[in-house]
Amino acid sequence: MTYLIRSRSNRGRVEATSPGARFAACFVALLAAHQLADYWAQTNYQAANKGRHGSPHDNAEGRVACMAHVATYTAVSGATVTGANCLLGLGANWRGVVAGQLISFATHYFADRRFPLRALAARTGKLEFHDAGEGLAKGSAVLDQSWHLGWLAVCALASATIGATRASR
Ligand SMILES: [Zn+2]
Repeated sequence: MTYLIRSRSNRGRVEATSPGARFAACFVALLAAHQLADYWAQTNYQAANKGRHGSPHDNAEGRVACMAHVATYTAVSGATVTGANCLLGLGANWRGVVAGQLISFATHYFADRRFPLRALAARTGKLEFHDAGEGLAKGSAVLDQSWHLGWLAVCALASATIGATRASR
């Protein structure tokens, strides 16, 4: 079994882009995009308001701010993975890339609304850690980023495997 690819060796034979290499490249692309999109591309307004909830007004403000941040994040992430796929000839299928972005979108929105992640921390015995610290050195920020990184691996797996073409010999 070999995997259909776009690159050729200097001897002219077709080389395989293995699912493992495709997964690794997708993960690196997703991680780089995450760093840019979650910090540089996020506005101060989005960061300050995306977790608002409680009253109907706060819920609406929080959802809009969070949706705007995650939409921008997804644009950066999707463009980065698509660019890496094209430039490196990874052979990932668009269905996989879209599936990865959908997983990213949903899990990122969940965490960035903040109260769902805090509730999850409470249910898993991590509330004390979640609420510890101040400023940028808060447990909630650590749990937020570890949540994102873990899901990026799942997104990379989906991007690399769903719909990817294979050719048996
Ligand atoms: Zn975010």
